[in-house]
Amino acid sequence: MSVIESVDERCKSCYSCLRACPVKAIKVEEAKAKVIDNKCIYCGSCVKHCPTQAKFAKSSIETTRAFFQQGERVIACLDPTFPAAFESITPQQLVAALKKIGFTEVMEGAFGGELVIQQYQKLLQEGNEKPIISSICPAVVSYVEKYVPSLIPYLAPIVSPMIAMGRMIKGKYAPEAKVVYIGPCIANKWEVQDEEVAGAVDAVLTFAELQTMLSESEIDPTTLPPAEFDGPQPLKASLLPLPGSLVKSLSLPYDILNPESLVVTGKEGMKTILRDLENNNLRVKFLELLYCNGCTQGPRVFNELTRYERRELLMDYVIRAFANHDDASFNRWMEKYGSVDLSRGFNDRFMEIEMPTEKEIKWILRKMGKRRPEDELNCGVCGYDSCRSKAIAVCQGFAELEMCLPYLAKKCQERFTALQRSHHKLKEAQEQLIQSEKLISMGKLAASVAHEINNPISGVLTYIKLMLKKVDGKPLAGKDLASFRKYLNIVAKETSRCGSIVRSLLEFARQSELKIQNLDVNSVLKKTIALLEHQMTLQEIKLTKNFKPLPEILADSSQLQQVFLNIILNAVQVMPDGGEITVSTAEGKDGFIEVRIADTGCGIPRENLPKLFDPFFTTKKGGKGIGLGLSVVYGIINRHRGKIEVESEVGKGSTFIIKLPRRGAASGSSYRSPPE
Ligand code: ADP
Repeated sequence: MSVIESVDERCKSCYSCLRACPVKAIKVEEAKAKVIDNKCIYCGSCVKHCPTQAKFAKSSIETTRAFFQQGERVIACLDPTFPAAFESITPQQLVAALKKIGFTEVMEGAFGGELVIQQYQKLLQEGNEKPIISSICPAVVSYVEKYVPSLIPYLAPIVSPMIAMGRMIKGKYAPEAKVVYIGPCIANKWEVQDEEVAGAVDAVLTFAELQTMLSESEIDPTTLPPAEFDGPQPLKASLLPLPGSLVKSLSLPYDILNPESLVVTGKEGMKTILRDLENNNLRVKFLELLYCNGCTQGPRVFNELTRYERRELLMDYVIRAFANHDDASFNRWMEKYGSVDLSRGFNDRFMEIEMPTEKEIKWILRKMGKRRPEDELNCGVCGYDSCRSKAIAVCQGFAELEMCLPYLAKKCQERFTALQRSHHKLKEAQEQLIQSEKLISMGKLAASVAHEINNPISGVLTYIKLMLKKVDGKPLAGKDLASFRKYLNIVAKETSRCGSIVRSLLEFARQSELKIQNLDVNSVLKKTIALLEHQMTLQEIKLTKNFKPLPEILADSSQLQQVFLNIILNAVQVMPDGGEITVSTAEGKDGFIEVRIADTGCGIPRENLPKLFDPFFTTKKGGKGIGLGLSVVYGIINRHRGKIEVESEVGKGSTFIIKLPRRGAASGSSYRSPPE
């Protein structure tokens, strides 16, 4: 039966339990820490240190209540630490409260200690070759049985005071009674189940559980008439919870210059002394060993008092008890019940856990980012003393990689960077989408307007041409006719311009299907440049071509030609007094080929850059531009799954960078033609 239980929902993966556990009997699975029963020594450190109460000792409240309900004779045995735990009420009030809850009798558990001390005296009288390790602390017994079984022969073969009390009651005093032991210790809950001593005590309540029972029964001990303890009144064994008390009771020489008697407490002390004993390093003959720093520091004492305040409370109680001690009654009890059998045996409970190979350990260390010795910080945050112990636990299935804080921090940073990258990509895609949507709706509008005015403009132009024909070649009849012909020519020219605007609009709106073929972008560029070379020479524009060999790509040749034409034409137009155009190509590392068209023209003001590809955005004055060239460029590049970027500096020039995917990415689907 398990003693310590875990509530997954409360576990916050802080690993406090693992840090506190002397034997690392905690398995972390999916970030939840659970106690491994057969590794556990039931010391209760995990319960004591868990900040969220996710670990708790299995309660015996229900069992105890059931004894009351069944009408049993239930004897409570109070652990001698009670004066340090219930500091705000008197012992008599506590006894009264226990009786009010339902206990038939309330005895001082320390009497069990008196019986045990007698047995230790006998053991020492027999003389001992090998060291004797006291076995009054069940956490120590469990540790020896599970982790240093070679020392089992050193354990005093005597039961603990709690079991002695139970055996005394069940042996002669009240064999039919139920014995409930009440104390600060969680390991007692395991001890009563140990097959070597089972049956002596029926249930163990912790002081915390007793407190809960009192609150649930709405019992305020301070309002009750005081009641006295039943049974024998103990003497020196009341001090057994304090370190050194057993050695003193046995009148052993406990001196700084005497290596034969030793008192050791605490988890590190316990582990060290037992290791030394195992290695035969010491001359110690009698070892009083307590896991906590004395039982007053047990895990289920719930007040905020310090170790020394608790010690004083206990001493005060014992001094008062000594003063009023009824020696005759004590001796009668001793004579009548002191002969009970208090012997016990122990079991080797060592658990063989397979050790991972050096290769496996190194592999896990590498996974945690610990490639070099200096990467092993041994910070202990995970609960293990070293990165290596943690790696071993991972191999054995007790720990998880994510328990390492530096590892988690690195993972977090990587995820953050990936998130930033995808956010950037998303933003880019969103901008492209907005631009495409804009083009589609502008395209629809342009198509319908162009359609409507195309016919009337053609009509007007036809009639103007007819009128010009009529006046053409006629002798000039005065100034009026000359002006008439001049005006008609202007109207014809402007109407033709209207016609060409409408044609451009229709062209922009009618995004015809791509005619995809394998092509060499360098040769498309060469063809395009050839169309404009004459114009460049006229304007004294120097052309530099810097073409690198390119792989063929899948694209529409005439549409790409239009892209390059529009961009180079703009460059030519912004350099009326000459300049330089550089056209270069290269194969990018990112799966794209890159075309750069740079000019040394006026440059583009920063505020115009976001509007550059918007339909009808133009800065060309006097009707010289209609602002559709770059919109058409954008549409074509987009349909080729490419990208277009502009770098520009006012007064220095602009560079248009076109990126086209190297293989099979072009499609007509990303930019649909608006309906005509
Ligand atoms: P249009 O040429 O009819 O104005 P475009 O869409 O081709 O329409 O160009 C839009 C605007 O972009 C131009 O009016 C100009 O302001 C700016 N532009 C385009 N290319 C360049 C360039 N090489 N240098 C400076 N400005 C440019």
